[in-house]
This record gives sequence, C-alpha cells and structure tokens, in this order.
Amino acid sequence: MADRDSVRSDPDAASKPLVQSTAVEEKQKSEVKPPEVLSEVSKVVTTDDKKQMGIDNDNSSNNNGTLKPHQVEREGNCYCGKERNLNIVELLCASCLRWYHESCIGYQLGKLVPFMMNYFFVCKNCSPTGLESFKKNQATFPQMCVTAIGNLMQASVKEGSPRTMFSKERDIIPFIDSHWEGMTTMPRRVTQSWHVTIHRALAKDVGTLFICEEGTGDGAHPLFGLLASELTQIKPNYEAMIRGGHLKVTDMGIQHGMCGVKGRSTKRKLPGGDQGPGAGKKGRGGGEVAAPKLPAHGYPLEHPYNKDGYRYILAEPDPHAPFRQEFDESSDWAGKPIPGWLYRTLSPSSVLLALHDRAPQLRISEDRLAVTGEKGYCMVRATHAVSRGSWYWEATIEEMPEGSATRLGWAQEYANLQAPLGYDKFGYSWRSRKGTRFHECRGKHYSAGYGEGDTLGFLIVLPESPEINYIPHTYKDRPLVKFKSHLYYEEKDRVTESLKALKVLSGSKLIFYKNGVSQDVAFSNIYGGHYFPTLSLHKSATVSVNFGPNFKYPPSDTQFRGMYEKAEEAICEQTMADLLYLTENEGKLRLDTYCM
Ligand SMILES: [Zn+2]
Ligand SMILES: [Zn+2]
Repeated sequence: MADRDSVRSDPDAASKPLVQSTAVEEKQKSEVKPPEVLSEVSKVVTTDDKKQMGIDNDNSSNNNGTLKPHQVEREGNCYCGKERNLNIVELLCASCLRWYHESCIGYQLGKLVPFMMNYFFVCKNCSPTGLESFKKNQATFPQMCVTAIGNLMQASVKEGSPRTMFSKERDIIPFIDSHWEGMTTMPRRVTQSWHVTIHRALAKDVGTLFICEEGTGDGAHPLFGLLASELTQIKPNYEAMIRGGHLKVTDMGIQHGMCGVKGRSTKRKLPGGDQGPGAGKKGRGGGEVAAPKLPAHGYPLEHPYNKDGYRYILAEPDPHAPFRQEFDESSDWAGKPIPGWLYRTLSPSSVLLALHDRAPQLRISEDRLAVTGEKGYCMVRATHAVSRGSWYWEATIEEMPEGSATRLGWAQEYANLQAPLGYDKFGYSWRSRKGTRFHECRGKHYSAGYGEGDTLGFLIVLPESPEINYIPHTYKDRPLVKFKSHLYYEEKDRVTESLKALKVLSGSKLIFYKNGVSQDVAFSNIYGGHYFPTLSLHKSATVSVNFGPNFKYPPSDTQFRGMYEKAEEAICEQTMADLLYLTENEGKLRLDTYCM
C-alpha cells in the first residue's frame, strides 16, 4: 500500500520506466515478523486486565513508540499517513499498532462506532496475504460503557462544550440504545433489564475504569466519566486477547483464532467466532482449533467469478479521491451505494493465476502458481496482461494422466473461460498432443508434442502502435458491488464491440520454447490487444507456472521482460488512468448528488 501511494503521489511516475523500484524493497522492509511482535507484546503485558482495557496511558501503542523496530521505518498512521480523526471510526492494527481510518480500509466493516474495544484488525501491510482482516466481537458491558462515554466526550468537544461526566439515564443508556448494533455482536435485548446491568458495570468499576460524581441540582443523578480520559488510548486489548487464546501468533502473522482450551479468559467463546472452514480441524499446537483460513496471496477466497457476461474487479479505497474527508465524516452513507470514484482498482503486487478470472471448476494451488484441470477444457488467466513489448513466462507440465491434455499460450480478456484456449479470436495456444497450435478453433501443425516434465516457454512480441490506447480501464465510473466484505467494480462484457474492433498488429508474433529450444514462430501478425498468460486444461492435468524472475530456460536469442515485471508497471499505469479520470472529472465528482 505504501508503495502504491508513493507511486501515486508522483504523477510522472507512470510515464517513467520502472527499472528498479525501491517500492518493493520498502514493502519488504515494512513487513512484520509476527513472532517478534508477540515477544514484544508479552513484555508489556501487565497483570491487571482492567488497566489494560484500552485506557491505560501507556504510549507504547502510539506511533511515537520505540518498542517495535518495524514501526520506526514508516511514521504516521493509516495507509494515508494522515492524523488520527476522532470523529470517525478508526481501527488499531494488532500487528503494527498503527491506527487506520475506516474509509481507508478496503474491508467492508459493517456498522461500527468510534472508540470500540471489541474487535480484531490487521492492516494489509501486516497481513501475509495483503488483505485486511477484521472481526467484531461481543462487547462486555463495561466496554460498551467506555465506548459510549468516549463518543459522548468527543461529541461534546465537537459541539464546542466539552464535558467529561455523563448521566447514565440521560446520556449513556440512550447512546448505547441507539448504537447497539454497531457496538456489539450481542443481539439487542428485548427488555430493559440491561439498564440495571449497565448500572452495575459502571458502579463495579468505579476507581478502575470509571469515575463517579454525585450529581448536583434537580434530578441529582450520579455522573460517570472515564478514569483515564485520553480518548486516543481507547483500543482493543490485544495483549489480553493473545493471552486468552483469542488471537494466535503464527508464522502467517497474528490471526484471529478460536478460543484456546485453557486459561480463565477462555471460559466463554468469543461470540461470532468463526465456525467456518477452519473449524473442526486440529491445529498444530495443543488441541487448539485452527484459525479461519486466510485468503491466498491477496485475493478473497470467496469472490465473484467473471461469468455470464459480467466481470468483477476488486476495489480498494482511493486516498487521492476528492471528498475523502467529507465521506469519512458523513454518517449518511449507511445502506447507500458508494460512489465508484472514491475507490480504485486494486492492482495486485505480484503476477499470479487469477482466482476470479478462471473457470470455477479448475483448482488453483494455494500459492496460485499451479492449476489442475477437471473434465472438459476450460481455462484460467494470469492476473496481468501485456500490450506492448516482448514478454516471457514458463509453464511446466507437472502431471499429465492418460487422456488429459493442455493448450497453453496467451489470451485477451474476452477469450471464453469455458473453452479451450485458441477456440475464439481472442486466444492463441499450443497443445500438448501432437504440438498443434490453435487459433479461432483451427489447429495447425507446429511442433512435436509435449508432456509430463517438459518446461514450455511463451514469448510474445507486441510492437508499439499509435492506434492502440495503452491506458487501462479505471472502472471509477462503474458501480461497486459488495460480496463477502469486499467491494468490486462490476463491468458488463463488451464482446461484440471488442470483436468488431480487433485489428491485426503488424510485426507481432508468438514464439514457443520447449525445454529452452525455440520451436520457431507459432503465430505472427496477431490481433493487437492486452494479452494474459493463459492455460486451458482438459481432464486432470496439472501445470505450474513461472512468471520470473528466475526462469528455467530464459531465451538467449532475444530480448524480453519477465512477466513478473508487469506487476509494478501495472500499478503505474493504473495510477495514470485513475489520475486522468479524477482530473477529467474535476468539479463533477460530488458527494451530494449521491446523498439525495
Ligand atoms: Zn487513512
Ligand atoms: Zn499493521
């Protein structure tokens, strides 16, 4: 994230060749080593849970802290680097202990209020997958009271008459009543018996969490406030969650786990704890149940597929969009469509097999660098496409059981996923059986066949043409659809228009290699366009891909770029497209037209 924004803040970056990017290095530097975090964290644990309930005056969680080595490398909060904003929901990352603004977070958090203590959040810089994780837990009554008083204090500051003491009947209970669903996962109580519970929670913790003053004047209600009144310090007690087994520190980073079987704080399960895919399996350590499976390499495991004439592009908040601040602070957004221009296409940081841009019956390995077929021919595209220059990638046939086959090569975005590659005008392939080459359904003799153990090289040469628009889609004008806590741009396929627009790109060619030996030009003067490395499989063949930089057989007879380099370049191009959109529409992008 940091890398992308540093690119984005320099509009010229997109047009500069990216020879060596410091962005990637920076990302690696800022990556967190979770086991160290745990040991650091456990050092600051105190025995008194209540003191730790987010309102201690311990500065270690502030960004000025010197505790954690990785914090020193990037200052400031959030992905955007801006100050904290107590008027909006902000979440504390369990790993880097930085604060993140709600509207800078891509994960769809659902209803929340500021100053919550009952959640778990990991930012995408700290997540091994590059995707945020978030979980809201059931709040205890004392926690709800802290959150309520925090919000009442901030509201009074905003109104210009700061107060620190509040009435249970007039302030605290009404606040909780009107924000119940945002504050906790506990079902709303049907009777008012919880009013008494609130009273007990406040009274019991006077001196540890709360302070109490006898009211003066007419009604003479007692007034309650926070013992530690520093609002910026209200936060989840991650240390206690780790000790209680609700959080697990693994080699994959800090994860929200199931409860451990031991320990006093584990008597009650974290409500809403994931009983999902991970549940039931034995974890490695001491009978703990495995944490929910994380999405592989930065893409949600549950996602919409490109099909039935629609495609879906994962989106993230765009910190450079106008009115971010207003959007942050506006509370009128619940249930309304979010303007697409406030978001941007999430450009993945590495070239992998696409999870969403494939036939769903294909199985993709966890590292997203291998695919296994199923029944009839169908295909998967890589995450990135190229449209000019010379590019190379490799595929290795890992398994090719009797009767299975592959057709591998390059395809544009509209090549039919439920067909062999080379079936339509959008793809060019090389078949395992007899080495036949295919385009538009027609097979032609090309080379000898290939099979298990062979490594195949795919080189594409696309001369630059003034007739082609190389700026990618921005999608900012598309509607955002929500699917399982993530937002996607939805776009309708334009196959017919694309077919009509196909034009031969003179001088273009495809050369395929078998174990380092060129099989000569397979296709020349192909259609111009954006080409993805693409694999189609028949029955249960398994093929692994290598997008570089370390190729098994890098071609020595020609200059080329490894497919992996496209990831950085795509970020620059996407930035350019987004900036163009924001510039062209300056003054036209307004929140109020959506609010009505
Ligand atoms: Zn932010
Ligand atoms: Zn973090």
